[in-house]
Amino acid sequence: MMEKTKKIKVGQLYIGGDAPITIQSMVKADAHDVKACVEQILALEAAGCDLVRLGFLDLESVRNISAIKKQIHIPLVADIHFNYRFALEAINQGIDKLRLNPGNIGGHDKVKMVVTQAKKNHVPIRIGVNAGSLQKDILARHGGHPTAEGMVESASEHIKILEDLDFDQIIVSLKASDVDLMVSAYRLFAQKYDYPLHLGVTEAGTQLSSTVKSSIGIGSLLLDGIGNTIRVSLTGDNVEEVIIAREILKHLHLRREPILISCPTCSRTQWNMIPIAKKVEQYLTTIKKPLKVAVMGCAVNGPGEAREADIGIAGGNGMGIIFVKGEVVTTVPESQLYDELVKRIEQW
Ligand code: SF4
Repeated sequence: MMEKTKKIKVGQLYIGGDAPITIQSMVKADAHDVKACVEQILALEAAGCDLVRLGFLDLESVRNISAIKKQIHIPLVADIHFNYRFALEAINQGIDKLRLNPGNIGGHDKVKMVVTQAKKNHVPIRIGVNAGSLQKDILARHGGHPTAEGMVESASEHIKILEDLDFDQIIVSLKASDVDLMVSAYRLFAQKYDYPLHLGVTEAGTQLSSTVKSSIGIGSLLLDGIGNTIRVSLTGDNVEEVIIAREILKHLHLRREPILISCPTCSRTQWNMIPIAKKVEQYLTTIKKPLKVAVMGCAVNGPGEAREADIGIAGGNGMGIIFVKGEVVTTVPESQLYDELVKRIEQW
């Protein structure tokens, strides 16, 4: 059961409240290059990304926002770093959400200018606390190193600046590269506030490390009912970020998508199953039906072990079987197993 939070509108979608959990990613192309950014965003959309963030190094690239937005179909978030001029221009360009920390953009007047425009244009703000860049005074109060309490204190300071300006369209993240710290910070925050939470383990590493760290961190919180939108941070292809995020959500029953069941293989396996399992996994990323599909190492135990699968295959000795809910429905030559499975999934 999700913790109830405020519901914040971001472009055409909602974050928080009863809204489904959304997947975010970030553009890794140069923001000066509209075509490259659009291409990446369209690929992210196709992979299942719900909203996308873009970072800027100068005002010239911020001016590309409206051109990019015209060619994409999901909300765009501007990461404006410390620069209030970027924020104002991003709003002017029709941005859907800002990522900024009001305590870091150079004083009350500048914050007020940004917040006034954000409110007028219905642009929500994500406050992004990062364990690696906590304010010095907060670190000093918490023993000189980042703690969950210090991270929540940092978020509270930024929130107060916005609330004092009568602004409450706020989403918060409390990221750390340490999974334990990140989970503790979000849990502590969720006890105190009802702003929606953007979950992520930051600087999570390359694919293996990021998959493990993100699954533990984001997964633990989602199991607690904490979290409204997620980002898997990965040193690598951002489409992979989205695929991993989808995997996390679907295994927590938060998205209805195909699930692959495959056995580890053992000494009873008599066919070259592993490449077929990988091929089926890849194929399943392209379909939307919430099917459970099994690829099993042997025809003797496979159908029974994968009884909960809607449809499955198992091979051995040149022949293969197709089974539905544990019952064998047909036998085909092993070389045709994959094609036969795909055909049946398409007919499902
Ligand atoms: Fe081994 Fe067959 Fe079980 Fe796979 S399904 S682990 S091949 S016994």
